[in-house]
Amino acid sequence: MSSISSKVYRSPYPDIKIESVDLITYLFSNPFNTPLDKPIFVDALSGRQYTFGDVIQRTRSLANGLQQSFELKSNEIVALFSPNTIEYPIACYSIIGSGAILAPISAALTVLELNAQLKTSGARLIIVHSTLLETARKAAKGTSVERIIILDGPSPINGQATCEYLARTSTPAPLKEISPKEASTKTIFICFSSGTSGPSKGVITTHQNLTSNLQQWHAHMMNTGQPSQQVKRNAAIAFLPLSHIYGLNLYMCQCLIWGTTVVIMPRFDLDTYLGCVQKYRPDELALVPPIALMIVKDPRVAKYDLSSVKRIMSAAAPLTNELSSALEAKFKELCNTQVFCTQSWGLTETSPMATAIPNDRMDKRGSGVGCITLNMEFRFMDPDTMTDAVTKSDGSTEPAEIWCRGPNVTQGYYNNEEATKAAFHIDPDGTKWFRTGDIGVIDKEGYVAIQDRIKEMIKYKGLQVIPSELEGKLIDHPDIEDAGVVGMWVDEMATELPVGFVVLSRQARDREVSAVLDGIHSWLNPKIANHKRLRGGIYVLDQIPKSPSGKILRRQLKELLKSKKPKA
Ligand code: AMP
Repeated sequence: MSSISSKVYRSPYPDIKIESVDLITYLFSNPFNTPLDKPIFVDALSGRQYTFGDVIQRTRSLANGLQQSFELKSNEIVALFSPNTIEYPIACYSIIGSGAILAPISAALTVLELNAQLKTSGARLIIVHSTLLETARKAAKGTSVERIIILDGPSPINGQATCEYLARTSTPAPLKEISPKEASTKTIFICFSSGTSGPSKGVITTHQNLTSNLQQWHAHMMNTGQPSQQVKRNAAIAFLPLSHIYGLNLYMCQCLIWGTTVVIMPRFDLDTYLGCVQKYRPDELALVPPIALMIVKDPRVAKYDLSSVKRIMSAAAPLTNELSSALEAKFKELCNTQVFCTQSWGLTETSPMATAIPNDRMDKRGSGVGCITLNMEFRFMDPDTMTDAVTKSDGSTEPAEIWCRGPNVTQGYYNNEEATKAAFHIDPDGTKWFRTGDIGVIDKEGYVAIQDRIKEMIKYKGLQVIPSELEGKLIDHPDIEDAGVVGMWVDEMATELPVGFVVLSRQARDREVSAVLDGIHSWLNPKIANHKRLRGGIYVLDQIPKSPSGKILRRQLKELLKSKKPKA
């Protein structure tokens, strides 16, 4: 129970009884009797596929193969570094089914970035897609990685079995049993996020966090409203990275429970995506705002039959009401169908879904991210005074930081007590609240709208960019004395662009500024993943505004940006 004096908000829907269960038992329990010969993972480009029966069999075989050939043990950490492929989910289930912990790593990372995440996670094994082998080899130097295992490829490579080969040829063995009690504390995933400030951290996700969120999501999104208002989720077109909690939960977990056919795209391409929607006829699309905008604006959309779509769910970044309405109007114009465009909100730390629009409140879809999900509690806290937000005469709150708790909320950051401590507020009665760093409001019916972000994180096209990480790199450049990085919101296509502010070193001040800045871009870009590039530009200042304690005053940098034009 939460503290009596605080203002606590809950879902308008009653809590459910959450079953304590480990992920693999839950996923393979087949609650909706999916036929074993139903295709579950299909490669969008080649059509190669695994049925539900294949998924179970191959998971057992690969788990056995990894244990026999690579001595994979319980609680060991395995990093997975690959773009989306149909082998990815099977590797994931096999690692977890062996009792080990999976650290999914974005395939966009450079050698330096991967090296840092391998060090943070302490992985002993890394499973890597063949196209990323060189990056992994270089990045593994100086880390605890002992073996690099190739994910894909039907035959052994240089005498070493690939996961695809092991899954096909090893004897299927029983997966590790995890008791319900163990499921509540045992870590399954370490996903990377900046949290509210500082460098990338490993978010601890337990079996119970994830299986709770699956149960919450199901009750919230599938069980509310009348059957005619619900989607069936017959197919899903998966372009969101499986290494991010949004894609991981949706495509590798929820879809397996519902028996949804997941068509996996290695990367986003509009024609491939629309072609898959036409071919596999999903009734729901899971998007991020830039893709929503593309569907509204790109003339290629008219070439495809998109009439199966009834629902669109956008998450990971803000979707404006205007874009949401324009998307619905587009489907009306193209297919004469009423599509409901909804939004959901959450974080890696909430595994991820924390709010969503339920089926029977589609009238709320244009005004925010939906209501609090079942079994969660929220507080809206003024970040300056640390008191509950004032409720206005219309029953809604003033904008305030969202704090939350629930069975899906992380215990903290892996091997990082300091960051864990900073992420939680503990009431005098011991009630623990996770501070999300997002600013929102809640109306009198319990529906939430996100208005701002006070944490340092920048989100370029739904992907995290960490200011302190870029600042750390920039100050390594000989022409830079000091640096600050902030995000600049442009529009739904460009989203939030990382912008750098630098103080030039004495030696650079006499040179032409544009040449110095070009030099900085060219030096920085190979060191960082593509989505982290300073697309908003680099500006020169005399000094970076800082608090007396030396903290960069990012608000002031953002204020400076108001007079600048985006360079994207
Ligand atoms: P991640 O941990 O990468 O999922 O990032 C979580 C952050 O993404 C949240 O704290 C928000 O700042 C942002 N976010 C997620 N969903 C939404 C949304 N629907 N609207 C606005 N921001 C969002």
